Amino acid sequence: MKTKPTVLKLGGSAITYKAHPQRANMRIIDRLAKEIEDAKTSRLIIVHGGGSFGHPLAKKYAINEGFHNPAQRLGFAETHEAMTVLNNLIMKALIRHNIPAVAVSPSSFILTKQGRIQELDTNIITRMQETGFVPVLYGDTVLDLEKGFAILSGDQLTARLAIELGAERIIIGVDVDGLYTADPKEDSSAKRLQRVTARELEKFHYGTKTLKVTDVTGGMHGKIIELIPAIEHGVRAVIVNAKKHDTIRKALCNERVAGTLIEKE
Ligand code: ADP
Repeated sequence: MKTKPTVLKLGGSAITYKAHPQRANMRIIDRLAKEIEDAKTSRLIIVHGGGSFGHPLAKKYAINEGFHNPAQRLGFAETHEAMTVLNNLIMKALIRHNIPAVAVSPSSFILTKQGRIQELDTNIITRMQETGFVPVLYGDTVLDLEKGFAILSGDQLTARLAIELGAERIIIGVDVDGLYTADPKEDSSAKRLQRVTARELEKFHYGTKTLKVTDVTGGMHGKIIELIPAIEHGVRAVIVNAKKHDTIRKALCNERVAGTLIEKE
């Protein structure tokens, strides 16, 4: 039987210095490339976030509010270009580590409608995988059928690709050890959740707060909401700390690692 794909999401919090515009964490990027090389995962797809490359420019030019001012055109171009700069640093590291990685720019083949993926042709990605390549995508500026343009988050892309490609699992690398009962950077009493089901996440999403998570904010909140459809589809997800040595390799090799496992039930 053919192995099912694995989607690896490398978060902007792990690969860039979020407080410093346009600064990549090259030490982490190089180590992650080495870990991916060592794991030798078949049918791997990588999606990375924008961190300090995409977000500040997208905000400056209000890209996610849609196209309402001609001056935003250059902003769209600049934001996309910044993402390609980060992408290129990652591509160089992967290739240096003998990974046949090929960059695929989401803006060139994905259309959104009100910010949600509407058109996505996975043919090229599937063919790349069958040929033994590792497609690398990223959160990007994209054209939107209603708003003119929008930001497509790496998290939405990750979950949707996992569904479309029939992936077995999603590995999400961030800068904390998983999903906690509160933001571990803000609350030292926050506890890591070892395992969460889609149903628990949904209850949380609809505000009934039955999940033991009292505070999921910012990017982690968006991540969880985007993950739900993929989990319900039967994809397993694990959130781990990509900044910790050997964690991504272990997760790719299905070895035990500190993190949060998210499953359908
Ligand atoms: P990335 O950019 O890597 O995709 P984000 O920075 O958007 O990730 O989201 C990860 C961050 O979410 C963590 O650094 C953490 O500070 C924050 N966070 C907020 N709430 C939680 C929570 N309940 N559990 C874990 N992390 C949380």
